[in-house]
Amino acid sequence: MTFLFNSDAKRGATFAETFARELPDIAFSMDPASVEPEAVRYLITWTVPDDLARYRNLEILFSIGAGIDQFRIDAVPARVKVVRMVEDGIVRMMQEYATLAVLALHRDLPAYLDQQRRDIWQPIQPVQAAERRIGVLGLGMLGSAVLERLQPFGFPLSGWSRSPRAIGGVRCLSGAEGLDTLLATTDILVCLLPLTAETRGFLNAELFARLPAGAALVHVGRGAQLDHQALADALDAGHLSGAVVDVTDPEPLPAGHAFWNHPRILLTPHIASVTQAETAAAAVIANIKRHRAGLDPIGLVDRSRGY
Ligand code: NAP
Repeated sequence: MTFLFNSDAKRGATFAETFARELPDIAFSMDPASVEPEAVRYLITWTVPDDLARYRNLEILFSIGAGIDQFRIDAVPARVKVVRMVEDGIVRMMQEYATLAVLALHRDLPAYLDQQRRDIWQPIQPVQAAERRIGVLGLGMLGSAVLERLQPFGFPLSGWSRSPRAIGGVRCLSGAEGLDTLLATTDILVCLLPLTAETRGFLNAELFARLPAGAALVHVGRGAQLDHQALADALDAGHLSGAVVDVTDPEPLPAGHAFWNHPRILLTPHIASVTQAETAAAAVIANIKRHRAGLDPIGLVDRSRGY
């Protein structure tokens, strides 16, 4: 029985050590060319390999990342469980990044950076946290963890999900009506939705128009959820005041793209949150143990929902 690791060698070395210690009965391999394909029961990867069909006895396909939108899920046989990465390291890093981004927008950092480049020393009237409403799209592993981390600052917090949720200290909304309410009462919108057929192009001109004038965006979901031109237009028109963008489509952005030098956009190269080898190895091993005990793995993807 083999676990095949198809990702970077550095993280692979940590996985190998942890597997040798925790699951010594499973052979660990980082080399698809040398494995016995029939022996591969578990595969971890970022994209689905073209030759997936050779692993006839595959039981679980693990994503090395939190999303599975990069998987061609139709190419994965129905008997194979698809599992996204649910591990503490990703959560902690996203909490840091989202807090950094919300505070940067709350304290007008894009505007001050622009002023600095133009030799302008000009205070902007500060808004107190109690007056700055934060709305988070997506209340899953990451959205709910980000809201938890934002609580001590005193922002009024809201979140939106597909099914109704309850989180202490957060106004939780769902459905189309809930989205209307959330958008109308949000000053900083944080997108932490998975990329699905329903969320592709979700952050568009029509959505931005439903936000109050002067609102700002933190985009940490997936690039294809954002209409890039609509964001640039809303910023240029002054309807939105700033944006922190970590994910784009394509990645990297082409030369000359409006985001590179936009005075109101802070752009980072998809680094908000990265799978951490030690915690990820522990999470994957715990999931294999659950699977062997007849339980569903944590992070099991519901194919009908697409996430
Ligand atoms: P998750 O646990 O699956 O949570 C997804 C949340 O989004 C759930 O609350 C879900 O609603 C909600 N949702 C999904 N489709 C929706 C829809 N059509 N309308 C309303 N709500 C919807 O996912 P996660 O682990 O928090 O991760 C979220 C995403 O973050 C990932 O898919 C990935 O794209 C992105 N991400 C980005 C980075 C980065 O570095 N930038 C790193 C990691 C992850 P329900 O609660 O009703 O199911």
